[in-house]
Amino acid sequence: MPGLFSSYPVAMPVATPNPTLVETLVIANRILYDQGIVDGLGHASVRHDSAPGVFLLSCNRAPGLVVRSDIVCYDLDGNAVSETVERPYLERFIHSEIYRARPDVVAVVHSHSAGVIPFGVTGHRLRPIFHMAGFLGSGSAQFEIRDTGGDTDMLIRNPALGVALAQALGPQTCVLMRGHGSTVVGGSIEQVVYRAIYAETNARLQIQAMAMGPVNYLTEQEAQLAAAANDGQIGRSWNLWRQRLGEIAI
Ligand code: MN
Repeated sequence: MPGLFSSYPVAMPVATPNPTLVETLVIANRILYDQGIVDGLGHASVRHDSAPGVFLLSCNRAPGLVVRSDIVCYDLDGNAVSETVERPYLERFIHSEIYRARPDVVAVVHSHSAGVIPFGVTGHRLRPIFHMAGFLGSGSAQFEIRDTGGDTDMLIRNPALGVALAQALGPQTCVLMRGHGSTVVGGSIEQVVYRAIYAETNARLQIQAMAMGPVNYLTEQEAQLAAAANDGQIGRSWNLWRQRLGEIAI
């Protein structure tokens, strides 16, 4: 309904983002759904290619249904800065405040993938259990929303909660959100999709291994070396994930 979200005004005209970047973000949404990382909820974003204070994120749409016309530009206060009449995601402040706090971050995925939930609620970190998850380094960060928000609906629905989440993330690649889900960051859309997929895989494997006994995790040095090696191979996985989608309307 036009005008419904007049409290999210278009602050200024922003340069049209690179069409390839928009298309890649749409495909990322579809891959994340196809791979079981997001369902009706969850979202992926990317920093604007020519305006670093702006990021691209779908309007309030299930990731598996996102098309090019759903992609909206938002500033770092979470205001739409491209034409839209659509409702935004309530939790866009996850993205805005991480982009503000982390100039190195180019892409962000937030999900409620089931495998990570047991870690957030027990205070266990995700740690790299195999080479595919070397990006976890010394382990995931942890976010406790109660410390900032008291009793909430668990959603990052305002800038203050986004700031607290970004602070909890610190320099890490993954932050677990107690009783909610997780958020991963990366230097490209392809890399952050890879990290979202393998954070979930790592969680499932880590739970199995912890049930068997003490776990021999990758050392920080091993994790770093493995991450560097895998970063050179992300395109191979991306092409396979993309091919699984078949012909899709974008
Ligand atoms: Mn959420």
